Amino acid sequence: MFTLPDLPYAYDALEPHIDAQTMQIHHTKHHQGYVDNLNKALVDYPELQNKSVEDLLKGLNAVPEVIRMAVRNHGGGHANHALFWQLMSPQGGKPVDAVAKLKDQFIQAAMTRFGSGWAWVVKDAAGKFQVMSTANQDSPLSDGFTPILGVDVWEHAYYLKYQNRRADYLAAWWNVVNWDKVSELLV
Ligand code: MN
Repeated sequence: MFTLPDLPYAYDALEPHIDAQTMQIHHTKHHQGYVDNLNKALVDYPELQNKSVEDLLKGLNAVPEVIRMAVRNHGGGHANHALFWQLMSPQGGKPVDAVAKLKDQFIQAAMTRFGSGWAWVVKDAAGKFQVMSTANQDSPLSDGFTPILGVDVWEHAYYLKYQNRRADYLAAWWNVVNWDKVSELLV
């Protein structure tokens, strides 16, 4: 069964950019909910419980149709958030030029994602970087891309502190990017 990973820092570690209450609710309620619902979806499928969530998302078409949407939504939610926590840090390290130069395009993708979803810098099969966004909890893994950087633009990620000001959230979020993790993902 899948479990909620611990955060690699305290809930208040990303203050003032990302507030402690948002972090705590986001982790213990939202992410936990995705984990619980993923486990529920897989309860009758022990062979799928042994796969990694990344492999489930890469092979959604191999997941039985009756649970495919649940795996897409809740498996995506689990994988996206597990990565998201690691992509933030109070000590982010040195910006990675190849990714940092895509900032404007990345922020634009995050600003123009209508409704709930994510913006990403991903690597394609040829190793080329590109900016994309996904709706809901869809993972770039399901389209053959490897996520390198991703930001959650669901309102639950910012509404308590930033209300409707998504641009302010994104500007603040950029200050807590964990560049050490980004460079690890490039390899
Ligand atoms: Mn979220």
